[in-house]
Amino acid sequence: MSEQRYSISLPSVEELKALAAGRWFDILIAAGIDADKLDGRGHACPKCGGRDRFAAFPNINGRGAVHCRHCFTRGCDPSPGDGIASLQWILGLDFRATLGWLADWLGIKQESKSRIELVARRTVTSERLVSSEPPEPVFDFDDLARQFFCEMSRERRESLAKRLSVESRTLVRLRVGYSEQGQATTWPMVDSGGRCIGIRMRGHDGNKWSFSGGRGGLFVPDGIATSIDRLFICEGPTDAAALLSIGLPAIGRPSCQGAMPATVNFVRRIGCHDVAIVADHDEAGQNGATRLARLLVTVANTVRIITPGSPGDDARKFIAEGGNAFDFDAMLADADALMLAIRRSVPTPKRNAERN
Ligand SMILES: [Zn+2]
Repeated sequence: MSEQRYSISLPSVEELKALAAGRWFDILIAAGIDADKLDGRGHACPKCGGRDRFAAFPNINGRGAVHCRHCFTRGCDPSPGDGIASLQWILGLDFRATLGWLADWLGIKQESKSRIELVARRTVTSERLVSSEPPEPVFDFDDLARQFFCEMSRERRESLAKRLSVESRTLVRLRVGYSEQGQATTWPMVDSGGRCIGIRMRGHDGNKWSFSGGRGGLFVPDGIATSIDRLFICEGPTDAAALLSIGLPAIGRPSCQGAMPATVNFVRRIGCHDVAIVADHDEAGQNGATRLARLLVTVANTVRIITPGSPGDDARKFIAEGGNAFDFDAMLADADALMLAIRRSVPTPKRNAERN
């Protein structure tokens, strides 16, 4: 199944370019390039740093072309020239996967009628396994999420990142926005196919509430729905942001018991065979993780539960206090994989940190 994804149902490159023209500004921001670096002047490169080596070409919103004198210039593969090359470079994906990411962002599944059958068939096949996922949303949460995302100023994002001890760029990848009216940050939730089905709100006072019509979705960063060897599944979006900040590919669930069918379908859809459930120390967290693990062994070869930090901590606190990717490797090595790991004939893929 995993080799098949993105292999049949994409529009042509020309069709994608036509759909993306005039939207490249938003697309590149969604891919993790700060808006204020896209003004045509020289800036620090979002990939390799420096001071002024990165710049957008003219007509950025129309063409989407950017370049870096050091790591994305003539002779590089890909070389700069259009938005798709820019995406491939910043996301670190291959050409095919980049087209898939772009198609997802553009919402091709909903918008392109001629393709709808193929995509729908793929989705239905992959979701038959766990069928209790919520029905189609009737409200355009994607649009709302985008509006909130635009309301989030860079300063506000950076101060949120600082407060949460996560990297600002991971908040961009999770499309975190701001609602002036709600005085809250906004965290889009998606279904297993990546469509926005609700928004988690986090108020200044720590209050949380959701717009979702009762549906629990997943917090999935941009650029993750491709060939990753291992996926960490966290409780909540801020834990996921923390893991992403130390370079681990992670998604969040709405709660320790929430969105289990969507989680299983998501793992199945991206074809990841090594998953780690990051659980909280409390009883609810451990029970929820065990329940989810029992479902995940039907789609992944290796399923482990890890519980970072000390009782009372969560993954974000553990990372804020210095926990790094090596610590997570060590926890995985310690995890009791015997009960839960189902090893099929496929060898376990080697570790490969998420490419940023
Ligand atoms: Zn660079």
